[in-house]
Amino acid sequence: MTTAAALLLVAVGCSALGDDTGGARTGTTGTTDTAAPRVVVTTNILGDVVGELVGDQAEVVTLMPPGADPHSVEISAREAADLREADLVVANGLGLEEGLRQHVDSAAAAGVPVVEAGDLIEPLAYAEGDAEGEPDPHFWTDPARVLDVVDGLEHELATQVDGLDAGALEAAAASYRQQLVQLDADLEASFGAIPAERRALVTNHHVFGYLAERYGFRVVGAVLPSGTTLAAPSASDLAGLTEAIEEAGVATIFADASQPDRLVQVLADEADVEVDVVALHTESLSAPGGGAETYLEMMRSNGQLIATGLSP
Ligand SMILES: [Zn+2]
Repeated sequence: MTTAAALLLVAVGCSALGDDTGGARTGTTGTTDTAAPRVVVTTNILGDVVGELVGDQAEVVTLMPPGADPHSVEISAREAADLREADLVVANGLGLEEGLRQHVDSAAAAGVPVVEAGDLIEPLAYAEGDAEGEPDPHFWTDPARVLDVVDGLEHELATQVDGLDAGALEAAAASYRQQLVQLDADLEASFGAIPAERRALVTNHHVFGYLAERYGFRVVGAVLPSGTTLAAPSASDLAGLTEAIEEAGVATIFADASQPDRLVQVLADEADVEVDVVALHTESLSAPGGGAETYLEMMRSNGQLIATGLSP
């Protein structure tokens, strides 16, 4: 995916009003004459979190556009230059942003402080699939991990970025922490209503390892073997899907909105089982008005769709 027009500025005015009008997320990469420090963030999920912490005290530039796949996102030469000129770079790490790795490394080599969220948490390893045993980068599906990231980021912002008001940063972090704690409690309550035997997640991509650990779900293998073509799901693809559905004991599959879910739908249509495909925003925030404009909104929306999809 190319990202020519993709620099999203989440900056001035994006305060903790809790009003998602979208009006605060405007602007382009155009230069501003502000002397505010500049924080460049790779993923839009972390861009939102950093924006919550710094408020209007810093310019937050998010490299990944809404709806993008973080595994494959690439940036322009100008965006790469932005990275090297940042006051701080915040990345997800744990192997998520494969397309940005070299640019983050070259920013670090140029002396820019780089914080990787993956270093601020206790990571899990993938439990299955091709990447079994390797660190799983999708920590944000567990709000408790995001709390750890907020703690770490607050410290990094306070110590690495000049010109931030310490009191304001502390207050913003405290307020956001409270919202994360509330999110966690609300998810716990809504997932708690799903009968234990139905707490099984079938996805097109392994995104829910952390969520599963936190809230007691089983992760049933992702249904999409790589190399399957949309036109012709093979007999073994269909058998794999049917098996996953039967193993899960539920007929709802969750597909990520940033990845092609048509394939899952084709498989679902051809498989000899009744199956619903529910699209979630799991890897990337949505565009304004898309239902997952902020991390909190994304998690609440997913929580509701999962609870509804798995309930009898
Ligand atoms: Zn992913």
